[in-house]
Amino acid sequence: MSDADEPALSAGADTFTDRGAGLEIAVVGAGAVGVTAAYDLACEGVDVTLYDRGGVASGASGRAAGICYDAFADGLDAEIAGDAIERFRALSGDETFSFVECPYVWLAREGDPERADAIRDQVRRMQDNGIVALEMDGDALAERFPALRTDDVAVAGIAGAAGYVDPGEYTASLAAAATGTGVALETETPVDVRSEPARVIRPDGEVHAVDAVLVAAGARTKGLLADAGIPLTVKPYRVQALVATGDLAEPMCYDATGGFYLRPHATGLLAGDGTEDREADPAAYDREADPTFAADLLERVAHRVPGVTDGDHEYGLERAWAGLCTATPDRDPLVGAVRDDLYVATGFQGHGFMRAPAVGQRLAKELVGGSGIDAFDPTRFDGDEAFPVVEGMSLDPN
Ligand SMILES: Cc1cc2nc3c(=O)[nH]c(=O)nc-3n(C[C@H](O)[C@H](O)[C@H](O)COP(=O)(O)OP(=O)(O)OC[C@H]3O[C@@H](n4cnc5c(N)ncnc54)[C@H](O)[C@@H]3O)c2cc1C
Repeated sequence: MSDADEPALSAGADTFTDRGAGLEIAVVGAGAVGVTAAYDLACEGVDVTLYDRGGVASGASGRAAGICYDAFADGLDAEIAGDAIERFRALSGDETFSFVECPYVWLAREGDPERADAIRDQVRRMQDNGIVALEMDGDALAERFPALRTDDVAVAGIAGAAGYVDPGEYTASLAAAATGTGVALETETPVDVRSEPARVIRPDGEVHAVDAVLVAAGARTKGLLADAGIPLTVKPYRVQALVATGDLAEPMCYDATGGFYLRPHATGLLAGDGTEDREADPAAYDREADPTFAADLLERVAHRVPGVTDGDHEYGLERAWAGLCTATPDRDPLVGAVRDDLYVATGFQGHGFMRAPAVGQRLAKELVGGSGIDAFDPTRFDGDEAFPVVEGMSLDPN
């Protein structure tokens, strides 16, 4: 390999193998999940083509908040998220992207006993699973995080293995690493997929026959699979976020009673909410934030972090936007084979970015003959189930 062909990033924990030698695989979607899987497949010796209908990170990954944590009560979710955090740390650096360590706090307010109990239960289960998570009341929280308003807090959970990443930077870094490892990247190329045998159909009708196709097309995965005759139980839904000026160093915070999250950002803070609990059309959804979204959310942000501004609670809105997440009936993603030669990765319920480094790696191993993640088996649903859309961080039952 010449210097020019060297991967653009040193993968740290990764090893190069030839388990995938002789295999040709197409990955559809250059979001965080697709680029990670493509890179890991190339590291396994697979001949990979990575397609995107737009550019790298032109889907949800370019619109995400980049909050990452391992604070999951379920053991498998926690293991995957913990692996992902470790890998973010290993892959980050001056030449790639920043992983900024930052504690994650999630809280319920006084007068909200159901969510308070849910947090207590989650923290207990996390501790049972070996996650470093603590329960705090409002006073303890105030001492630890002076930036937060806590006089209305009943209980909070705090997770230390957490931080934030610019999702566009991560995705671009992994795409560069993938091409540096031999992946052929074809952007501005909306493709169709077919199974049995696996193939990708380019916009000009040319057929690219491969050994397997991985569809990591985010909110468009359902439509692509439907065109191939395969129903998927997943619903895209619209969420919103904003960046405002301010001066917040820590923590990242999800106010479960208020239904919004926030984190520090290079120019102030980033906050999100505005979930629409109905299915959205990926081809026609409104990419702009609703007219009242920013003012409404900033008022609630000012309540939770009053000291971030000069005291009058006026935040300087820099920008606000909308994007799509994907929901499933049990809020677990659809990751793995839907046919012998056709794989999917979608349905991440607002947690796909933080899990991408681990999910991409596991998918790559599955595609070269390893076992999949049983709990995320995409064929566990029939494809026609009715279910409500529930925001991913919500503590409420379905
Ligand atoms: C406002 C907002 C905030 C979020 N915050 C967080 C957060 O803090 N933490 C977190 O973990 N997650 C967060 N998420 C969720 C996260 O963005 C997603 O779960 C994650 O980015 C999914 O990555 P992906 O690679 O699966 O899909 P995507 O990033 O959507 O990538 C899919 C790609 O497929 C391409 N594609 C689609 N159809 C075709 C086709 N026919 N041919 C070729 N290419 C195609 C698209 O162009 C796109 O680039 C947030 C999402 C939004 C919208």
